[in-house]
Amino acid sequence: MSVEVDTKTEDTKTKELIRFEKVTKRFGDNTVLDGLDFSVDSGKHVTLIGPSGSGKTTILRMLMTLAEPDEGTITVAGEQLFPAGEKQIREVRKKIGMVFQQFNLFPNMSVLRNITEAPVTVLGLSKDEAEARARELLDLVGLADKCDERPSRLSGGQQQRVAIARALAMRPQVLLLDEVTSALDPELVAGVLDVLRDIARTTDITMLCVTHEMNFARDISDQVLMFDSGRVIEAGSPEKIFNDPEHDRTREFLSAVL
Ligand code: ADP
Repeated sequence: MSVEVDTKTEDTKTKELIRFEKVTKRFGDNTVLDGLDFSVDSGKHVTLIGPSGSGKTTILRMLMTLAEPDEGTITVAGEQLFPAGEKQIREVRKKIGMVFQQFNLFPNMSVLRNITEAPVTVLGLSKDEAEARARELLDLVGLADKCDERPSRLSGGQQQRVAIARALAMRPQVLLLDEVTSALDPELVAGVLDVLRDIARTTDITMLCVTHEMNFARDISDQVLMFDSGRVIEAGSPEKIFNDPEHDRTREFLSAVL
């Protein structure tokens, strides 16, 4: 079954930031995404849920131009992503920030420098401007006192919060979050999710989030997309999906993870 996620009117089209149209992706014989259609409007928070292997990470990787669809089109802010030239890839990556399961901070740089490096080298900000912005972001993620530390001196949760600040420092229009708490010790998860809740509440950034943290998904999402076998089988508000799902597969999945 294919679900049309939104109703396209002239009005919503102008606010649309991301659109997948009939996107198919195969790895060998494995059809990971199968004619996928969905769109995300500017400023919305959309969560992708579904069993492991249902193609959620592949969607985020395509948006970062780290993987290419076999068929179909992907559009970000009106620009079609594929086929993408070097220049287009650079432009898209400026619009999109991604935070991964593994935080991948630069180990030999201070926390502050981890955050200022790309704004200085890619966006051309002055060192002072980049540092002022980095300090604001470190305040936002609750780490104002850690500017001069090396990442290895921080807990996993703190490192992930630095990675979130680093992504935001590029002033992206979209923040992609790929199971950002999965690699953390359980006691460190809540701090990271609280920071993301704050960002969702206080900024107008568009968020596309893959998570197994269903309470978090319920709190931040405008829309939840349930994936199975490379398709969206059900889409709706968190209230609808979590309290009154229509699809058996959604019910089964939620009873396994909740
Ligand atoms: P999810 O995020 O929902 O767990 P993924 O998008 O990570 O799903 O993976 C979907 C499917 O694609 C899985 O079967 C996975 O093994 C396969 N896959 C992902 N990346 C690759 C790759 N680079 N090469 C081969 N298979 C891949």
